[in-house]
Amino acid sequence: MSQYWTDIVNKLDPYIPGEQPQDQQYVKLNTNENPYPPSAKAIQAIDSYKKDKLKLYPDPESTLLREALAFRFNLQKENIFVGNGSDEVLAHSFQAFFKQQKNLLFPDLSYSFYPVYCGLYEIESTTIPLNENFTINSADYNIDNGGIIIPNPNAPTSILMPLSDIEKICRESSSVVIIDEAYIDFGGETAIPLTKKYDNLLVIQTFSKSRSMAGLRLGYAVGHAALIDGLNRIKNSFNSYPVDSLAQVAAVASIKDEPYFQQSCQKIIQTRKKATEDLQKLGFTVLPSAANFIFVTHQTRGAQQLYAELKQAGVLVRYFNKPRIDNYLRITIGTDEEMQTLISTLHGLLT
Ligand SMILES: *Cc1c(COP(=O)(O)O)cnc(C)c1O
Repeated sequence: MSQYWTDIVNKLDPYIPGEQPQDQQYVKLNTNENPYPPSAKAIQAIDSYKKDKLKLYPDPESTLLREALAFRFNLQKENIFVGNGSDEVLAHSFQAFFKQQKNLLFPDLSYSFYPVYCGLYEIESTTIPLNENFTINSADYNIDNGGIIIPNPNAPTSILMPLSDIEKICRESSSVVIIDEAYIDFGGETAIPLTKKYDNLLVIQTFSKSRSMAGLRLGYAVGHAALIDGLNRIKNSFNSYPVDSLAQVAAVASIKDEPYFQQSCQKIIQTRKKATEDLQKLGFTVLPSAANFIFVTHQTRGAQQLYAELKQAGVLVRYFNKPRIDNYLRITIGTDEEMQTLISTLHGLLT
């Protein structure tokens, strides 16, 4: 608290990121980072970047990166907006589209940054409860609204919503629908092709999860050129040089290395399958995941206690002390070796 704070600063309830401990080596399965390195071509692109050019501002429009993304998705660069991580792209989107007379809708269990942005931009929202089994009922969103945002697959549940449901929501809504596809590459089908049909649909993706570049901070939005224009108006009123030069060249190289991208996503999917089976044998219920994490609950042992015991044993997972999910753990899919450590640690704790 300070007498110098404005009312809005007083009222904010900031997001709390997962632990990034610097003290001890953990098996780190708590923030959905990718256990594999970025594409060697992305690293090469940073290495061979003429560092002397760092004295210049980056391309404010990230032209080469937007062209590479447009090419991959069979769109034009006018359909692509890039920012410093999808968190920044989401923040601009909330400000550009969601401060309306009517309330913004999102699931009661979803990305916990959404309510934070609502606080920052003074956006009124209504949360729509998930079904008992944590799936989304698309018909619930067919009510008066000032916007809709849904993560797909959802976080922290990991559950995928079918594309046909997303299409239904876009068709029925007269406001902007954002699908936050941070985890789509781990088993889902992107809604990006639907942006050609629905001018109210904005799809947001990130380089942080499936492209192993969380530290570089890169995210993007895909949609109708008029939506992208709206985002540019916000960006150019906030920070007109958002994505740094090294991030731009690394991102372009990553996009162009499709084989490595496919291969590392497939590895995560295979490890997820094995980890799911192993956890089930230990008495866990594992929700069907299309993400690089799983959401699990144990038949007898409480999640909060397991979280603490795992941390004690050097394995970090994520626990949310929130209604409905306070007996669940969110576990990021690491390498096969990391998951083996998790399983044997749990085996020791449970038997
Ligand atoms: C990780 C995540 C993001 C943010 O990722 P960035 O690192 O900011 O690109 C956005 N939405 C969801 C649902 C996420 O889990």
